[in-house]
Amino acid sequence: MDDNTLNKGDSKLGSNGKIMTTRNSIPNLILVSTPIGNLGDISLRAIEACRDADKILCEDTRVSRKLLKKYNIETKLSSYHEHNAQKIRPKIIRDLETGAQIVLISDAGTPLISDPGYQLVRDCIDNKIQVSSVPGPTALITALAVSGLPPDTFYFGGFLPSKSAARQKAFLEKVELKTTLIFYESPNRLTDCLEDAIFCLGNRDAAVARELTKLHEDIQRGTLTDLLDFYKKSGPPKGELVLMIGPPSRKVNTDMEALETLLRKLLKNNSLRDTVKIASNTLGIPRSIVYERALIVRDAT
Ligand code: SAM
Repeated sequence: MDDNTLNKGDSKLGSNGKIMTTRNSIPNLILVSTPIGNLGDISLRAIEACRDADKILCEDTRVSRKLLKKYNIETKLSSYHEHNAQKIRPKIIRDLETGAQIVLISDAGTPLISDPGYQLVRDCIDNKIQVSSVPGPTALITALAVSGLPPDTFYFGGFLPSKSAARQKAFLEKVELKTTLIFYESPNRLTDCLEDAIFCLGNRDAAVARELTKLHEDIQRGTLTDLLDFYKKSGPPKGELVLMIGPPSRKVNTDMEALETLLRKLLKNNSLRDTVKIASNTLGIPRSIVYERALIVRDAT
């Protein structure tokens, strides 16, 4: 790009060190990504969009005020969260229609990604109001990049259900996916979640990315059982985390014959429970699949 040319909404540092920008004159909703921990991770365009807006919608005004204060942004803040969204959306749409420029941010990261904003975007589109985006940090991409797991294709599942049965169902629905799986998870549920993942998906490569971009950033990599052992010993981790699970090894789809042979052998001297555990660990096939096959083998002998 020509150094002296600014496109609509572009920002750059001027020779006086101040941020120069062109104001996007079309009334619209702008989705602005904000840091996921390190306040330095804000973009020039994000600062300008927030400064230029008539109003900033955010989740928690106390959280966003800290960020805005750091960058001397004085734009009016209003809260937009799951409890008031439905009620205030019509007014936001009316404001946008009468020419207001409104920015939507979340407490951290990219709005709409496990955060409020989807229905507002839908309503804007339905009402022919332009929606644009100032991209920036999001935990899932930051985590995937450092995970050491295949990044070429991935599935993002947002937050997993908190109850084990629903979580297992969610994992089982993904058992055939040959992509890296990414989930947001609460630290207190991590070990239960890892146990369910091992049961449903088998002992795959995985990673836990914690406190990304913050002082105590920590990435643990290993198999799911390595991670389970680690967090059982260390206790629940502190802070925010992303759980990533690698794609299945080719064994899962090809070794059914080997599985049945092993099951027949093991069932002679072991309980069904132990048989399933040993066979699953030996062949790296999810326990749920091994269990179903073990019942068939047991009933047929
Ligand atoms: N909109 C955000 C984004 O773009 O990533 C996600 C918001 S969601 C309500 C919050 C979850 O994101 C946390 O529970 C955690 O799973 C993940 N997360 C956010 N910041 C993180 C960080 N610094 N390190 C690790 N995970 C983070």
